Amino acid sequence: MATRMKLKLKTVFVLYFMVSLMGLIYALMQLGQRCDCAEHDMPKDRTISRLRGELHRLQEQMRKAEPTKPPQKLAVKPSQPTIYVITPTYTRFVQKAELTRLAQTFLHVPQLHWILVEDSPHKTPLVSGFLASSGLAYTHLHTPTPRDRKLQEGDPSWLKPRGAEQRNEGLRWLREDRRGQPGADTQLGVVYFADDDNTYSLKLFEEMRGTQRVSVWPVGLVGGMRYERPVVEAGKVVRFHTGWRPSRPFPLDMAGFAVSLKLVIANQDACFDGDAPMGFLESSFLQGLVTMDELEPKAENCTKVLVWHTRTEKPKMKREEALQKQGLGSDTAVEV
Ligand code: UDP
Ligand code: MN
Repeated sequence: MATRMKLKLKTVFVLYFMVSLMGLIYALMQLGQRCDCAEHDMPKDRTISRLRGELHRLQEQMRKAEPTKPPQKLAVKPSQPTIYVITPTYTRFVQKAELTRLAQTFLHVPQLHWILVEDSPHKTPLVSGFLASSGLAYTHLHTPTPRDRKLQEGDPSWLKPRGAEQRNEGLRWLREDRRGQPGADTQLGVVYFADDDNTYSLKLFEEMRGTQRVSVWPVGLVGGMRYERPVVEAGKVVRFHTGWRPSRPFPLDMAGFAVSLKLVIANQDACFDGDAPMGFLESSFLQGLVTMDELEPKAENCTKVLVWHTRTEKPKMKREEALQKQGLGSDTAVEV
């Protein structure tokens, strides 16, 4: 009896051991295998497929909008005229900012030569360094405005013309540089007077490149108006849309015309009169160079504004001055 009991117990024990072992083996086999938990993964799968759909839709949208199209380069053949831009500039807080904006516009214009003329008795290190690293073709000049012709602190900006001597210095360099060069009088080129604070569309430069004698176009935000412009009828300038003394010989802003290099070379004496009454500076140069009838209207018969007579606010330095008094002013070695 006892032996049979022993045998039964042994069988139970062996069976128990076998079942446990099989359970263990099964558990071990399940480890590392993918869990078939479809219900768990459903939301994750749905999110992935929704995001895929979204991505595809955005890709389609991007393809339709073609933002990857390379920017249209205003391509110019190497044989086309060089644009000589004469810019007067003077030392003030915003000078480097203005010049940076200007240079980065000019970098997009093929065959442009920048003639930067400082209103200063010497070339300044700021402008020299700036030009050297600008990546532009340039000529660096300087000439100071005589004291009696210079605006003084507090003078209204219209009291005296600004930049006249500097533009004349640019013209002098252009004429001298070309003197003695073969075919100087037939050289292709265009001269444009670009103040350092205006805003220029790249399209403007391609409009002016074909100038034969003097080309003209509208200027935005000038003369207390939305724009000033020559009025064109049957392809000719017949009068000027301006709010002030339209009877002036050329009621144009400095930014509103360009002259061919040929014409500048052929008229050695044409220059800006620094003593010209207000509003007559442009006329003092253009008179004798061209007649109204000869003006070449650009920018779709002077219906498009491609240059703006913007002006930059003078930064306030109240805090800087207060800190300087305490010996805590900004580091003067940092060029701004
Ligand atoms: N300018 C200059 N010296 C001065 C004042 C101005 O060389 O004392 C330059 C200035 O940098 C700009 C141009 O002359 O390129 C016209 O000056 P501004 O922009 O002040 O004239 P506005 O916009 O009032 O016509
Ligand atoms: Mn200006």
